[in-house]
Amino acid sequence: MMGDDDSERSAPGDDVWGQARAMLDGLDGGLNIAHETLDRHVAAGHGGQVALRWIGKDGASRDLTYADMAGMTSRFANVLAARGIGRGDSLFCLMGRVPELYVAALGALKAGAVFTPLFSAFGPEPIRTRMEIGTARVLVTTPGLYKRKIAAWRDQIPSLELVLIAGDDAPEGCVALGPAMDAADPVFETARTAPEDPALIHFTSGTTGKPKGAVHVHNAVLYHAFSGRHALDLRPGTVYWCTADPGWVTGTSYGIIAPLVNRVTMIVDEAEFDLDRWYGMIGREKVEVWYSAPTAIRMMMRAGVEAAAPYDFATLRFMASVGEPLNPEAVVWSEKVFGQPFHDNWWQTETGGIMIANRPGMAVKPGSMGQPMPGIVAGIVERDGDSVSELGTGKVGDLALRPGWPSMMRAYLHEEARYRKAFVDGWYISGDLALRDEEGYFWFVGRADDLIKTSGHLIGPFEVESALIEHPAVAEAGVIGIPDDTAGEIVKAYVTLNPGHDPSEALERDIRGHARKKLGPAVAPREIVFRNTLPKTRSGKIMRRLLKARELGLPEGDTSTLESDET
Ligand code: ATP
Ligand code: MG
Repeated sequence: MMGDDDSERSAPGDDVWGQARAMLDGLDGGLNIAHETLDRHVAAGHGGQVALRWIGKDGASRDLTYADMAGMTSRFANVLAARGIGRGDSLFCLMGRVPELYVAALGALKAGAVFTPLFSAFGPEPIRTRMEIGTARVLVTTPGLYKRKIAAWRDQIPSLELVLIAGDDAPEGCVALGPAMDAADPVFETARTAPEDPALIHFTSGTTGKPKGAVHVHNAVLYHAFSGRHALDLRPGTVYWCTADPGWVTGTSYGIIAPLVNRVTMIVDEAEFDLDRWYGMIGREKVEVWYSAPTAIRMMMRAGVEAAAPYDFATLRFMASVGEPLNPEAVVWSEKVFGQPFHDNWWQTETGGIMIANRPGMAVKPGSMGQPMPGIVAGIVERDGDSVSELGTGKVGDLALRPGWPSMMRAYLHEEARYRKAFVDGWYISGDLALRDEEGYFWFVGRADDLIKTSGHLIGPFEVESALIEHPAVAEAGVIGIPDDTAGEIVKAYVTLNPGHDPSEALERDIRGHARKKLGPAVAPREIVFRNTLPKTRSGKIMRRLLKARELGLPEGDTSTLESDET
């Protein structure tokens, strides 16, 4: 069995990283993400290509070429350097999806600083905690966000020396970025960072608890280049739209770095999800590759197939999804609407890049995350104290990875013990449970924390949720286990309904009956309650731990990433 599994795996690691390295330029033995994403393309004669097409909330658009971006990031780096900010300094960014955010990210990296993005929708407390954990020296933000969320406590962060404010005016004690950039030199000698120098800090989504700060290095760009090419089919000139906000890792790894290192033209939409805006965007901007998330896809499904009918999707060549399990129903639905499936892929803040994917050209099995990327060795394992053994085909276990790929986190900030705990017996243990089938496809079961134990069965919430949303009335579902004297735990589901359906006892019975038919009585939810919304993180993940805490009247724990919800 093990022998078979090995032969199914991709080419040996060494070769793959050599290939990935060949996609880059390098800087006299150094490596800098800003150079790889911008300046080397300009040097190669592609300065005139649009790097970023920004679409404002009001629909106005603005094109920034690779040459524009290279120049602006150099000016930004000079603004920092003139104020004594450079190698290793921590720079935070709190902004919506505006061009300044992209300039700040790559300008900071150019100067050798370490970049941390935050969701602009975060409240003051989550912003402050993260800036304290990350010892922020610089903050880049907007006048409104500064006034509403920062000004009151800014003086209480001793490390914070410089606050840059987008636009022409800045409150007292801050520097207006517009005039500072205008006055700065458009030429900057990119910091010769070493491949292992820190580049980015990303906080995890906080789905299971207090967010951790994962540290990533410049060498990650190797894997961004490689996976952008091979998991998302990004090629020079591709028109690409990643809907994720840079406030979480997808919006940076695949919303800034992977696309630009692959010299695509990326679409950046300032606005949040809106069905007609999104459908219209594809045809209007001739989007070829689209990377989105299950929560958005389920919103599209909720509007029905007819809502998509007036739009033109002919330019789409590849569609992918990440962040949460992609229900089989969503894959089948997307084939109907777009003529091709959303390709699910799996990774984490910690892994820095896509690890398991339905790659272009692969046969998609609806409900499967696909197969490990070339160079990535994934296994389904079982821990026994300090040792780890691989499980055979079809067995549910910990989804684990062999460390060593370039975009792997190098630390959890100030949480050395927690970091070390993730590595056991030569494996990185992801915290997710999955299984592998005979053909080497991986299937997500649930987060280890969310697993439900009922009458001797182990149940992953994903399976139950997927069955529930196949019922025509159900839009979304969150499933948890609640303690029960006889069964250990019983399965309870929270569901939201599609338009045209109203909560009723009869509907509850009908959905339960549907689930029992699909799943059998041992796995089907014993109880179903209707909700208008489910609690989710800002990155769109259902927070099952909150459903559970609220159900049991327990403390809610860290809710800093919670999107405002009603219960
Ligand atoms: P925290 O670690 O703070 O609890 P989080 O794990 O949600 O938050 P992220 O790193 O943003 O933070 O998310 C990674 C997790 O998201 C994965 O470990 C997995 O549980 C889930 N996930 C991502 N992609 C997929 C996918 N394609 N299928 C199933 N689950 C996925
Ligand atoms: Mg996690």
